[in-house]
Amino acid sequence: MAAERKDAIYIGTGLALGAGVGTALGSVVGAVTGDLALWVAMGPSLGAAVGLAIGAGLMAKREEAAARAGCCERCGYSLEGLRGGVCPECGAKAAAR
Ligand SMILES: [Zn+2]
Repeated sequence: MAAERKDAIYIGTGLALGAGVGTALGSVVGAVTGDLALWVAMGPSLGAAVGLAIGAGLMAKREEAAARAGCCERCGYSLEGLRGGVCPECGAKAAAR
């Protein structure tokens, strides 16, 4: 499903960006504090964790927005005019409205 691939992109981008930013920040903090080895080792892990959290948060926001707009939470298909039941596009259980 396209929506599931998008979820993976949020998580993957968050991880990659977080690890990259973490590496850069780790090098800077390490150089400033003199603990370069420690911070270069810690930076990517910390960054990846933060990136993962942001990615998961963005994913949840997208699902919320889709639900508010009357669309399927899983695939984003418009459920306008449907009364509960099942999403005709992906088969996800649609929230009763
Ligand atoms: Zn759906």
